[in-house]
Amino acid sequence: MTQAAPRRVAVVGAGIVGACTAAFLQRDGHRVTLIDRLGPGEGCSFGNAGGMSPGSCVPVAMPGMLRQIPRWLTDPLGPLVVRWSYLLPALPFLLRFLRAGRRDRVEEIADGVRALLAPTFDNYAPLARDAGAEHLVHAGSGQMYVWRSEAAFRGDAYGLELRRRRGVDIQVLGRDEIRQHDPALAPIFEKAVLLPQHGHCSDPFRLVRLLAEHVARRGGTILRREVRGIDLASGRVRRVVTDGDPVEADAVVVAAPLGISVPLEAQRGYHVTVADPGVMPRRNVMWADAKFMATPMDMGLRFAGTVEIAGLDAPPDYRRARRLLEMGRIMYPGLKDATATEWMGHRPCTPDTLPVIDRAPGCDGLFLAFGHGHTGLSAASTTGRIVADLVSGRKPPIDLRPYRVGRF
Ligand SMILES: Cc1cc2nc3c(=O)[nH]c(=O)nc-3n(C[C@H](O)[C@H](O)[C@H](O)COP(=O)(O)OP(=O)(O)OC[C@H]3O[C@@H](n4cnc5c(N)ncnc54)[C@H](O)[C@@H]3O)c2cc1C
Repeated sequence: MTQAAPRRVAVVGAGIVGACTAAFLQRDGHRVTLIDRLGPGEGCSFGNAGGMSPGSCVPVAMPGMLRQIPRWLTDPLGPLVVRWSYLLPALPFLLRFLRAGRRDRVEEIADGVRALLAPTFDNYAPLARDAGAEHLVHAGSGQMYVWRSEAAFRGDAYGLELRRRRGVDIQVLGRDEIRQHDPALAPIFEKAVLLPQHGHCSDPFRLVRLLAEHVARRGGTILRREVRGIDLASGRVRRVVTDGDPVEADAVVVAAPLGISVPLEAQRGYHVTVADPGVMPRRNVMWADAKFMATPMDMGLRFAGTVEIAGLDAPPDYRRARRLLEMGRIMYPGLKDATATEWMGHRPCTPDTLPVIDRAPGCDGLFLAFGHGHTGLSAASTTGRIVADLVSGRKPPIDLRPYRVGRF
């Protein structure tokens, strides 16, 4: 329970981050209102790859990225693409992104990401239990990264070293061991690593919905509203301004990209989910050089990932989703010709991979929890716990300096 008196807390954004935050706040005894313009989980959290990865501490920007820029601009279906028409608006973000790939900075960022991700499953456990969602969280089912060539594997050596030095258990596998771990996988992969501490979520959308439904069952309010701003009085939050009635609050948590002045860019990703695939991996498998994952889900086999920088408003390029399906067929030759659903989502990304988790400076009662980028499903449980600590006046379990809003 909270050490402070129960407060009326409004959480803006009902994605996985807002839902976990609302659930932890409610466990502390606060009166929670979860506000979103969409239904819970219908934003980026709807269609992710489901990887729950306590050891995914490798920043998105890494040393040597400069060399890859020509490829980003010339291959519209490549693993990372910047649309020409969006190059100019994206430029300030891209420059910061490249700067974050300096080796000294990469080490600091990896520490920050690892601290947030390491307790992923410990912090999901109570929430999933309360919400009846334990069957969706497969802690320790493991994750396998696969590479087609020794050279590609060696190219990722620094990323593996970053993980190892931060205590992530990594087992290197050769051709035969890969087949033993995943017999359905095509025999085209030379090298793999197994990360036994990782796991997956078999329905990320349902997980958010169950968390939100549980919040509602325990007396919380779920509101479908567009948030237009936050009213202050004498430096304190007073209410959330929406397209309907305002929501009075003693504290507000921003778990959405709400126009706070932080460099954020949408790194768009795609998925295809094959309902009746005929093959199913036992665990989440990441094709490392192609930058997408195959995940066993309750509704089918999902291939998801890649990055497209094209802003919030450009229409999806579903050729990218279809490319994922083609690659999926190469990965799993037994994949049946079945119907697949396609989806595109906007990962909310900061240039340095790290989210913002902080008190808003100069504004009492305003808390920030956004920008979780590529690992928001994994980081949401710990973020929710930390924000509840901040709102309830407890000391958070980790050093929050890497995530402060003023770092940009
Ligand atoms: C293809 C793909 C694969 C991924 N794979 C993984 C993975 O394997 N593992 C992993 O950990 N992460 C993964 N991610 C990342 C993960 O999905 C995101 O980091 C996470 O969903 C972000 O959660 P969120 O709650 O911050 O954002 P969201 O889920 O987008 O929630 C934010 C909510 O805020 C609402 N909102 C915004 N503005 C307003 C407003 N003005 N008023 C009201 N509501 C508003 C939106 O409607 C939205 O529902 C992947 C992402 C993609 C796209």
